[in-house]
Amino acid sequence: MTRSLKKGGCHCGAVAWEAETDDDVVIDECNCSMCQMVGFLHLIVPKSKFRLLKGENQLTEYRFNTGVAKHYFCKICGVKSFYVPRSNPDGYSLNLRCMDGSQFSNIDIRPFDGQHWEANADILAHLSKDDG
Ligand SMILES: [Zn+2]
Repeated sequence: MTRSLKKGGCHCGAVAWEAETDDDVVIDECNCSMCQMVGFLHLIVPKSKFRLLKGENQLTEYRFNTGVAKHYFCKICGVKSFYVPRSNPDGYSLNLRCMDGSQFSNIDIRPFDGQHWEANADILAHLSKDDG
């Protein structure tokens, strides 16, 4: 499996980041209260594979429910391009909608039942572990 650096960021360009991911990816489309509203498509990576290039001061944080997830929004354009998910507090979830799809060789999107989060979260936990 080939891996490479991918770029992403918010709509106005204030927030920009890069992350090393597989070129052939499986994306989780979650139906929880938050993801359904913002249309987030999850590409979960270990923290070590992610680098914020700019915009740290432009991010605003929102928490709800357990408070574990840290939802980051650009203060200027309101776009949520990445955040720390409750399922993977040791990683980041990148929003595929904030990345140019041509950076990938293949993208598979699978549904994740976030409305029944407790019963399903285990299947995501490995995604933020460093695999060398
Ligand atoms: Zn922005």
